[in-house]
Amino acid sequence: MGKNEAMTKARTQARTQARTRPDPVLISGCSSGIGAATAAALVSAGFVVYATARQVETLADLEALGCRPLALDVTSEDSMVAAVKTVEAEHGRVGTLINNAGFGEYGPIEESDLGLVRAMFETNVFGLARLTQLVLPAMRRSRSGRIVNIGSMGGRITFPVGGYYHATKYAVEAISDALRVEVRPFGIDVILVEPGLIRSNFENRVNEGLEAGAARNDTVTAYADLLSANEKSTTGSYANDFMATGPETVAAVIVKALQSSRPRARYVVTPAAKVMINLRRFGGDRIWDRAMRRQFGL
Ligand code: NAP
Repeated sequence: MGKNEAMTKARTQARTQARTRPDPVLISGCSSGIGAATAAALVSAGFVVYATARQVETLADLEALGCRPLALDVTSEDSMVAAVKTVEAEHGRVGTLINNAGFGEYGPIEESDLGLVRAMFETNVFGLARLTQLVLPAMRRSRSGRIVNIGSMGGRITFPVGGYYHATKYAVEAISDALRVEVRPFGIDVILVEPGLIRSNFENRVNEGLEAGAARNDTVTAYADLLSANEKSTTGSYANDFMATGPETVAAVIVKALQSSRPRARYVVTPAAKVMINLRRFGGDRIWDRAMRRQFGL
């Protein structure tokens, strides 16, 4: 048997073994939305699931379903190290890491508070990056594992008022694309999930941030018309059944990807997200800008 053939055989064996033994899944941000729905769907599908949140008491329902609750704040090194150590002490390694924790700090580029923007990058980008670094050594040793990053259609297209949030999701795209190639020789898969609009706590969190921004800026904003068009467009889109769906749709895609022996590199979730990504990709800048100006009345 040639060297390449032997390597392929070893990799297939490691993957088969990984699929047939308890393969612990560690998920960040399970207090609500996509994280909670994914934890529930995976535990129902027979996975060993460590559901995590900053406030562990928010995980009572998931614990009742059979998930193992753990405290995890992705902006705290100690918290991330402790969570990974707990899983590794019980299973030798994290089998699958789902980097889901994240939020949107919205506002016009000019008027956003960069301290708050930095805090968003700390969660959406550096939290994801550090947690990934912490699980990889044991995954590499076992020559198997999966990293699922929850990106967004907002990592492929950009809406006004969401520029800094989109920047975090474009960063997740780049990190995922580089990592996928880097860890392939160790038998590790990297899967990027790109949801469209999902009904969760995300929209409330965005609105709270925008309201706090308006209260903070005691000077009159130069972007009042844009902000009011954004509010109208966001509310309308999340209420529209073609544009938005529930977090269970994302959870079902993740379960399918994890049950597959050859998961895809990318999963766009919702038909509307697919349409918009294609419009951006094939329409070019002029058509996209025109569509945005029309949507936001600019
Ligand atoms: P969500 O219901 O607000 O859930 C976000 C989760 O992230 C919450 O559990 C939140 O916990 C957690 N989180 C925030 N900061 C954290 C930190 N420092 N450490 C650990 N957990 C933290 O919103 P969601 O829609 O499910 O969002 C999940 C992911 O999907 C995010 O990455 C988001 O960017 C992405 N996404 C959402 C949409 C959408 O339209 N909803 C679309 C595309 C992508 P707390 O309760 O403690 O704050």
